[in-house]
Order: sequence, then C-alpha cells, then structure tokens
Amino acid sequence: MIDLNPKEIRVRHIEEEIGVVGVIEKVENPEIRIISMSFECPSCKTIIKVLQITDKIKEPTKCLCGRKKDFIIISKEIIDVQRLYIKDVKLEEHGVYPFLEVVLKEDLVSHEHSLKVGKKIKILGELKAKNIEKSHPNIQEYYLEAEDIFSF
Ligand SMILES: [Zn+2]
Repeated sequence: MIDLNPKEIRVRHIEEEIGVVGVIEKVENPEIRIISMSFECPSCKTIIKVLQITDKIKEPTKCLCGRKKDFIIISKEIIDVQRLYIKDVKLEEHGVYPFLEVVLKEDLVSHEHSLKVGKKIKILGELKAKNIEKSHPNIQEYYLEAEDIFSF
C-alpha cells in the first residue's frame, strides 16, 4: 500500500487501497444512512430486500408474483456515517491547497478523540469517485472510504 498526501491523488488510485496523510480541515456532524430496505409484497407476502446505494429510495422493480408497485416498507438497515475533510500537511505557496473528503462509517464515527480540526492523521481506505452534480455526470471528485484512522 502506498502513502499519499491529498494533492498526489490521481485517477489511477481509484478503487485502490491507499494511505493518506493530512491535517483535518473540517469535521461534519454524523449522519444516518439507509443501506438497505426490506419491502413486503401486498399480494403474496414475499419479502424483498433492496440495497440502497444512491440518494433516492430504490423500491423493488418486480415481485416474483408479477406485482410491480405499492410494496410496503417493513424494515430499514441504517448505519452512522460521518464526513471529514483533510488537507495537505504543507500549505501550497499560492494559498490554494487540495483537500480530500473522507467518509467514515459505523464504528469509525465514534472515533471522536482524534477528529479535531488541525490534527494530523493518516487514513487507510479505498479511494472512490462520485459525481459532484447530477446534471454533470461526467465530472467526478475523489473521496476516501476510511477503514482505519491513525492520529499522530
Ligand atoms: Zn408478490
């Protein structure tokens, strides 16, 4: 695994496990994210589990019995998620410095003692890309899905 600072991240690192060293710039409030939902078919009582990976709630497209709509939500699987932003340890001379969004999930969210602005940390995780705006699907930005955090 390679260690990078936020300005060294490139397309070739997407979907790779990397370590990123930086200083915490901003920590957001924890959020709740729905990761899957179970629906019941009102006709045949079949339970259908649908993974939720986008911002919109995704319903079952079709039940085995042929029904295509009006499914009943019976349960949700939710997790804690928190975002923070890290910047390079050294500021760029011209005042602009690249920063990287880091997404923490579940147990990492309670890692509060190390999540203070200005603190130097190293995060191990998988680099991913996401759309910035829905209207421009060809423009994406990086984020790191954290698996471990180390503070110095
Ligand atoms: Zn059905």
